[in-house]
Amino acid sequence: MPTFVRTEKCDGCKGQDKTACMYICPHDLMKLDKDGSETGHAMKAFNQEPEQCWECYSCVKICPQQAIECRAYADIVPMGGSVQPLRGTDSIMWTIKFRNGQMKRFKFPIRTTPEGSIEAYKAGKTANMANLEGPGFFETDGQAPLPGDPSQLIRL
Ligand code: SF4
Ligand code: SF4
Repeated sequence: MPTFVRTEKCDGCKGQDKTACMYICPHDLMKLDKDGSETGHAMKAFNQEPEQCWECYSCVKICPQQAIECRAYADIVPMGGSVQPLRGTDSIMWTIKFRNGQMKRFKFPIRTTPEGSIEAYKAGKTANMANLEGPGFFETDGQAPLPGDPSQLIRL
């Protein structure tokens, strides 16, 4: 289910040329309606092609005003519920609101490296074209993936 913008919270990223949600959307879906001619809400962003949204939550997480919400799947959040992240410098706090008023919060650590600083191929890994048709990933160079460590499982 796609994202939508709460216009009362969105400040258009203070009129910058490219808003945070426009910058981050991998599908180029978010758009700032500068003069209000498209939505009737000037200087508010909107999801211009909701049917193309893959609910990656990138825009929801980056919005500094917490103005974007994603209609969550009914199997994880019943209708009328909401899932809202609040980004900190080293963690994200997720707030889950259920339609009966119940609320739950979860805090998870996030990466703290500067944006855009990751060098994916720094370790010298290169794709081995001979592995393209086999199972696995190019980093494993054809070997089986490492087995999981059962002691790392979270058990309730
Ligand atoms: S990132 Fe948030 S505040 Fe900025 S334009 Fe998008 S919805 Fe509005
Ligand atoms: S949830 Fe992802 S795909 Fe959908 S509008 Fe936001 S950034 Fe784009």
